[in-house]
Amino acid sequence: MRRPFIAGNWKMNLSREEAVALTQGIVEQLGTTDIEVAVAPPSVYLDAVGQVTKGSGVGLSAQNMYHEANGAFTGEISASMLLDLGCKYVILGHSERRHILGETDEEVNRKVLAALAAGLVPIVCVGETLEQREADKTQSVVQQQCDGSLAGLTNEQMSGVVVAYEPVWAIGTGKVATPEQAEEVHADLRRLLETRYNPEVAAAVRIQYGGSVKPDNAGELLGQPNIDGALVGGASMKVDSFLGIIAAAK
Ligand code: PEP
Repeated sequence: MRRPFIAGNWKMNLSREEAVALTQGIVEQLGTTDIEVAVAPPSVYLDAVGQVTKGSGVGLSAQNMYHEANGAFTGEISASMLLDLGCKYVILGHSERRHILGETDEEVNRKVLAALAAGLVPIVCVGETLEQREADKTQSVVQQQCDGSLAGLTNEQMSGVVVAYEPVWAIGTGKVATPEQAEEVHADLRRLLETRYNPEVAAAVRIQYGGSVKPDNAGELLGQPNIDGALVGGASMKVDSFLGIIAAAK
């Protein structure tokens, strides 16, 4: 049985004060839940947000990291630094990093391996652009991203990874994939994991959907057999809507 996992990605938004207030609202109103929950604030607010999430049912996630442990890498942050701040998760290969900042599967792969070696849970994002979907390339693009980003992982390592399927055309656009469209890709991904790893790993890995998830569409999406949670951008920055999505996962 896969535990549903809802994570909020705040991207490069909010002030320190807003991030702390949002976290306090989520922590105070979450109550007891079986759902795994995490928030990913901008890295400069991880410390402040982590003070609020400490000891709560809300986990702390970073939005990115660098694969090297330390050294002359100006502006970068290592896995051990994220652990120092109380992070449990790190989002890797988000489409904004792939498409705006030019991150490749090879770079994502180095980060995934470094995150796992340090003891962080990587949330590895994959997803096709609208052009690729219209050219009927969704399956091959997602497969290539998985193979590249997850290369060299053992069965045991893969069991500790969360995959997020995020069609690029649905991120921040209000255009959500239909539950059928999302489920089709999630089922393909699980079959891929079965061929690359084994049936136990494929059955254990959580696959989140991401792309304009809101409280009113979350129930149907999360009701699909291979959708195990959501990676949420916009709707995770309001207490009510984030909690509404978590409620829909129950
Ligand atoms: C995201 O950033 O991962 C995302 C899914 O954003 P949104 O929910 O705003 O589409």
